[in-house]
Amino acid sequence: MHDPANILAMTSWQFTEQAAARGLARSHALELYRTAFREGRFNDLDWVRLEAASIANIVREFDTIKFTQELHGSLETESVVLPHSGSSGRARNTLCVSSQIGCAMGCTFCETAQMGLMKNLSAEQIVGQWFAARFMLNITIDNIVFMGMGEPTDNLDQVIHAIRILADRNGPAIAPARIAVSTVGRAAGIARLADFAREAGFHKLRLAVSINAPNDRIRSAIMPINRAEPMAALMQAMLTWPAHGQRILIEYVLIPGVNDSVEHAAELCEYLSPLHCTVNVIPYNPRRNSPWPAPAEESVASFTKAIAANGQFVKRRQTLGRSVMAACGQLGNPTIRRRRAIQLTTPV
Ligand code: SAH
Repeated sequence: MHDPANILAMTSWQFTEQAAARGLARSHALELYRTAFREGRFNDLDWVRLEAASIANIVREFDTIKFTQELHGSLETESVVLPHSGSSGRARNTLCVSSQIGCAMGCTFCETAQMGLMKNLSAEQIVGQWFAARFMLNITIDNIVFMGMGEPTDNLDQVIHAIRILADRNGPAIAPARIAVSTVGRAAGIARLADFAREAGFHKLRLAVSINAPNDRIRSAIMPINRAEPMAALMQAMLTWPAHGQRILIEYVLIPGVNDSVEHAAELCEYLSPLHCTVNVIPYNPRRNSPWPAPAEESVASFTKAIAANGQFVKRRQTLGRSVMAACGQLGNPTIRRRRAIQLTTPV
């Protein structure tokens, strides 16, 4: 006898197929699926149940909420809900999910890298992070970014399957245009994601690539992946991304004294010139024992201005959650996990 499957690991098509094979009417099965994903309710059957790890810890800084879910074996996923005001005035929420616990990429500026890779998350554990935000914290999620712990291209089968579920119109129904996969920039992974984005329904999936440096010398010093796959190879891979009107997001963590001069900005723009992209400047968030401070506001402003002066589309990422180690590159801090949870007494 197998353990019952988890509905969070199934698309509505998979669920109704399996239900039909067990004699359930497809229309009834579809209702059950919708109720599970739209209301968070599901009566377990002998062959399928709804299971999401409960929330272990919550920390917040203003409206930014970092939460963890404990998996078997005392490992924890980490996710962050980031609010931002939409053009209509209604607050929008982006959920930043983890695809792995820890990471094998070894980027020197990133907290998660300090843990090494501990576990690949399954699709149901990735979807489980959405389920927890939606139904345990009761937050409507508008966008999903794979920018939490882990390298998505290191766990692509599960990441792609999770996206199929998250985008399922009978399920979470988050349009692929509202889902971004952020990668360290591995060519083979980008090629596979590009194939996925060519499938009907997924054309608008967004790709974010962590460039973080203007040249191979600096990139290899802070991102070990670059020694195996230098920037020219990465550019070739990015040029295969199906455009469909969506610009690639180029992430650039601005680290004082490492990659933050106006000359670096010009060199970066030169490198990016063949590509239709938006540069997203991310002020460095100091990891534990960081050799570098956060950049001064003026240096973020002058770097961003220099990019724009080169005719390149650029945005700066708002820093959210730094004080609770919930900002970009700060997930996976073991000390925070051992600290007593700040339990919310009011619903969020
Ligand atoms: N492995 C994926 C996704 C996780 S990192 C990737 O490399 O893209 C998500 C983003 O946070 C990346 O753009 C990364 O460069 C950035 N980041 C990592 N550490 C950071 C830090 N300490 N401060 C600011 N951004 C950081």
